[in-house]
Amino acid sequence: MRILLVEDDPQLGDGIRTGLQQAGHATDWLQDGQAALHSLDVENFDMVVLDLGLPRMDGISVLKKIRTAGNDVPVLILTARDTVEDRIKGLDCGADDYLVKPFDLDELCARIRALSRRHNGRSSPLINYRNIVLDPISHSLSKEGKDIILSGREFKILQTLLENTGRVLSRERIEESLFGWDDALESNATEVHIHHLRKKLGKDLIVTIRGVGYMIPKADR
Ligand code: CA
Repeated sequence: MRILLVEDDPQLGDGIRTGLQQAGHATDWLQDGQAALHSLDVENFDMVVLDLGLPRMDGISVLKKIRTAGNDVPVLILTARDTVEDRIKGLDCGADDYLVKPFDLDELCARIRALSRRHNGRSSPLINYRNIVLDPISHSLSKEGKDIILSGREFKILQTLLENTGRVLSRERIEESLFGWDDALESNATEVHIHHLRKKLGKDLIVTIRGVGYMIPKADR
C-alpha cells in the first residue's frame, strides 16, 4: 500500500521509512504538518503514519483538518511516552490507532496491516475472491488451490484491485498505490503488469473500462 509518513525527527523518520519500504509499502516521507496537509489534499494514500509534535502545523491540527474535509484515510499516530492526553485527543480527533515511542517496527507493520483490514471491512487477513486467495502477509497467491507466482508489482496491483472490487481505478490511482515519489516509472508499466496478470489468472478477471481504468467486478455479480 502507499503510506504517507510524517515525522520530523530525521533519524527516526529515515528508520521508519526504510522499515516500511522493506515491508513492501511505497512510502513517502514528509517532515512538517503543513506539507503533509497539502500532500493529503492532492494525493491518495492508503495509510498515514503521523507524528504529533511537528513543525509548522502539529499532527492534531493536520488530523482535524483532513477529517473535517471528509478524508477518511486510516491514520496511525505516533506519540511520546508521557503524553496520555495527546493520545486521547488524537483518537478523539479521528485517529484510528496509536503507537507510543519508542516502538518496534514489526509492531508498526502489524498495526498497519490490521488497520488496513479494518478499513477495508475484513477481519481475516486473507482476501478471497471466487477461486482466488491472496495473502497480503506472506505475499502469496493461489488459484483453485494452486500457487501462482507473481512479481512484486503484479501482486500489489492485484491486491489494490481486489481491495476495491466494483470500483474502477484509474491507471494513476493504481500507480499511486504502487510507487512513492522517488520511483521512476515507465509510462506503459501498468498495462504490461495487467497483461501478465491476465495471462496468469485468466483474461476475464480484470476488466478494462476504456478511457477510465481497470476494475475487478464484485464477486457476487
Ligand atoms: Ca516530532
